[in-house]
Amino acid sequence: MIPIACPQIGAEEEAAVLAVLRSGVIAQGPQVACFEQAFAAHCGVRYAVAVSSGTAALHLALLAHGIGPGDEVITTPFSFIATATSILLTGARPRFVDLDPQSFNLDPKLVAAAITPATKALLPVHLYGHPADMDALGALAAHYGLAMIEDAAQAVGATYKGRPTGSFGTGCFSLYATKNITTGEGGMITTNDEQIADRLRLLRNHGSRVRYHHELLGYNFRMMDLQAALGLAQLAKLEVFTAARRANAAYFTAKITHPRLSKPQTYGDVQHVYHQYTLRVAGDRDAAARYLADQGVGTAIFYPIPIHQQQLFRELGYTDHLPKSEQAAREVLALPVHPGLSATDREQIVAALNSLPLLETTAVGA
Ligand SMILES: *Cc1c(COP(=O)(O)O)cnc(C)c1O
Repeated sequence: MIPIACPQIGAEEEAAVLAVLRSGVIAQGPQVACFEQAFAAHCGVRYAVAVSSGTAALHLALLAHGIGPGDEVITTPFSFIATATSILLTGARPRFVDLDPQSFNLDPKLVAAAITPATKALLPVHLYGHPADMDALGALAAHYGLAMIEDAAQAVGATYKGRPTGSFGTGCFSLYATKNITTGEGGMITTNDEQIADRLRLLRNHGSRVRYHHELLGYNFRMMDLQAALGLAQLAKLEVFTAARRANAAYFTAKITHPRLSKPQTYGDVQHVYHQYTLRVAGDRDAAARYLADQGVGTAIFYPIPIHQQQLFRELGYTDHLPKSEQAAREVLALPVHPGLSATDREQIVAALNSLPLLETTAVGA
């Protein structure tokens, strides 16, 4: 089976981790500082703060902007759960706004209509590696005085009008094993704001600047030097990885011709980094996924249940009906697009897709 994700770990990563193991400093230390500097430079920002996960990055970014009880944060329901639970963890409430069905990202027109006096921040997701509409969202944030927190977990290396994702506000990245670069578990927060960076460093380390002196309520959300060494080796390969993902995506876009499949496109002056190559499937999507699995092609659904319909949010009283997100959840299917695909893998994937049964349709009312 061709896997949907495949971490690219080579001799460089092995050597880097071994060197840290032998150095005697394995928790947060010089490798973390070095990784932060390299990451900030890559994103074109002044500061980067390494943390233990993408979820911790979102949680701390919101806290650093002073988001808490009584506040609302506007975000998309068509994302990984952590986008919204990070808001809940601060005591604030997510306000879900439907997506632009073409880019799968927040629709700025609907965002504008959802802003209330309680709104304190916008939290767009650059879903699948396609940047959100940052001109329109940035203009709204500036006009209403809202914090801009970008969920760039899937979008390391992506650009909007030539500018890196994560550099428009406070950027939150995940370095989880399946992401475009990985430290196993891990996250990174990017910002140009010195005060935010300072608060982030305090929050990730028990509110402490000087050992055993605690200024505020913080967490242990630190990254280890072991992870940072991995991250540095991965970051050095990011451009090669991204080029491979984009080449795989271009191949699929050129070769997939089946009438039941609609292919992802890019909208605006963006560089899409194809964390996922996501099709929409007409008819019975789940049967199509089973057919592809039988042909040796692993696929995945990001995401089968929009966040507002998750049990957690139902029980919190969310009754939203967000038809475009709900439709996307029924139709999307992601293909393997990672840098580990061989030429034969790509041919096998396209052959399987183009041989899908034609007439499979969802039984109405089933
Ligand atoms: C992966 C991901 C996260 C969470 O990152 P973790 O490192 O797994 O905590 C948040 N948002 C999105 C969109 C993600 O894809």
